[in-house]
Amino acid sequence: LAKKNLKSNYEYYAPEMEQQTTWRLDMIRQLNHDFEQRKLQLWYQPQVDLVTEQIVGMEALLRWPTDDGSFISPAVFVPLAEYSGLILSIGAWVLEESCRQLAALNEQGFHGLRMAINISMPQFRDPKFIENVKNIIAKNNIEPDRIELEITESVVMDEPQIVVDALHELKSFGVKVAIDDFGTGFSSMSYLQKLPLDRLKVDRDFVKDIKPGESAFLVETIVTLGNKLGLSTIAEGVEKREQASYMLKLGCDEAQGYLFAKPMPFDQLLEYLREND
Ligand code: C2E
Ligand code: MG
Ligand code: MG
Ligand code: MG
Repeated sequence: LAKKNLKSNYEYYAPEMEQQTTWRLDMIRQLNHDFEQRKLQLWYQPQVDLVTEQIVGMEALLRWPTDDGSFISPAVFVPLAEYSGLILSIGAWVLEESCRQLAALNEQGFHGLRMAINISMPQFRDPKFIENVKNIIAKNNIEPDRIELEITESVVMDEPQIVVDALHELKSFGVKVAIDDFGTGFSSMSYLQKLPLDRLKVDRDFVKDIKPGESAFLVETIVTLGNKLGLSTIAEGVEKREQASYMLKLGCDEAQGYLFAKPMPFDQLLEYLREND
């Protein structure tokens, strides 16, 4: 039925287009179903201080398991969740779950860790979003500055005023804000300066460029920019020792990547924290 309705909206369509549309609708339907069946999971990837290599926090990352034991990448399903509006309920659950787990870590004796949570544009447009964030933090007895919301450059540039207002309100509550995948979008330099940001996450694409004995011009420029703007910096996707040393030499504060740990379920994170205490 949905297919028929869609068809009538388009005067011309190619068969591949129809296939694409059907695929998207099927995925969205399945995602909705699995979310309601509580099948989505949150995994956590540690973030470390580059000087001490101590764990300072973790990023919460969605996982959608399939029946054969593999996972559908969030890079595939998050855009579908955004497009369909499902990201509002999924995102609310991500906030709930990650704050609940951070509180659980506190109870287990792990204090002072930070939880980084990815936020999509439709969540910012939701008038109840800020209130939700505040309520969940209060309910879980979390210090607001232990929560860091990650937004991408495209979110910032999409609707600057909504985002600027929301960020100021979050900031006055104490929540931290990081700009994710930095360098891959098109940030206006004047916005970067105006926004109440705390951290800049250097995208993996730039970290990948770091090769032994060579200087990596872009990554150096990005870290310098972050420092000049008074922001903390964290490198994403650090897989090799030489990448960590190079980032440290540049003055980058923190890192996250397979060199230190892959994203893992909560139980494994707890074990990992105990082993690395
Ligand atoms: P992101 O926020 O930039 O997350 C970092 C991605 O890099 C994660 O992919 C992580 O697993 C991967 N990664 C970390 N270290 C390494 C490394 O050393 N090497 C390599 N090759 N990859 C590494 P993942 O988990 O597949 O997530 C993809 C994207 O999906 C995230 O990118 C984020 O934009 C989005 N996403 C995930 N969870 C959520 C969520 O709860 N809400 C929203 N709105 N988006 C989410
Ligand atoms: Mg992120
Ligand atoms: Mg990122
Ligand atoms: Mg990235």
